[in-house]
Amino acid sequence: MKIPLIFECKQCQRQSCVFMNLNAKSVDWRCDCGWTLPGVLMFNANTGLLILRRARYELKSNNDPSLCIVFSAMAVECEVSRLFFRWSRVGQGTQRRRVGDTELEERLRTYRSVKRTLEKTAELMHPAGMRNFIVSRSGISRRIATGFPNLDADRFVPIVVKQLFWPRNRILHLGDTAYDVRAATRAFNVASLTLFVYQELNAKKREDLRRGIGCQTAPCSRPVTRLHLGS
Ligand SMILES: [Zn+2]
Repeated sequence: MKIPLIFECKQCQRQSCVFMNLNAKSVDWRCDCGWTLPGVLMFNANTGLLILRRARYELKSNNDPSLCIVFSAMAVECEVSRLFFRWSRVGQGTQRRRVGDTELEERLRTYRSVKRTLEKTAELMHPAGMRNFIVSRSGISRRIATGFPNLDADRFVPIVVKQLFWPRNRILHLGDTAYDVRAATRAFNVASLTLFVYQELNAKKREDLRRGIGCQTAPCSRPVTRLHLGS
């Protein structure tokens, strides 16, 4: 899958859109003026946020709201699954067999619905659950209050499913592509918020481990983009 990145030339100040492979470890770029930017490292990039870049591109550059919705949902599903794999493996003793990807895939499938996958993966990082986590984080509550008037902590997961995954399913299952810019923008913004919530969950879990068993990693926070209607 190709992910669009914007690079600005330090010599002629021109901006260019460069496509990288989602799994690429680095990107080389050469401007038309001759200036080169070799080996931009991508190993720290968040997979969900990279896919969300593709979602934005499909809406803004290709004028394809349906593909924007598909990629927005994919960004969330990919990131949540990645966190499920990551935190399902934590706590396995060195004497025990390491759980393989296939086994974790099967475990993930037992959830049988996106709603349950979102909830159970959140509980891996915060056992008290999604609602408890959202109300305990002023940054998330504030973001919801200011940008998502129809969304609250009690109904967070159901509304993510309804506004993001239901349209995605109609597109993929029925070939229904009658979605406009407004619907795609809503799906994109819900996906962006959901990725932010799971980033916070991930950071909180890392911090818990750091305090509890001496994990060396620190929580990371990356800016999450937001689309505006008409912009
Ligand atoms: Zn240049």
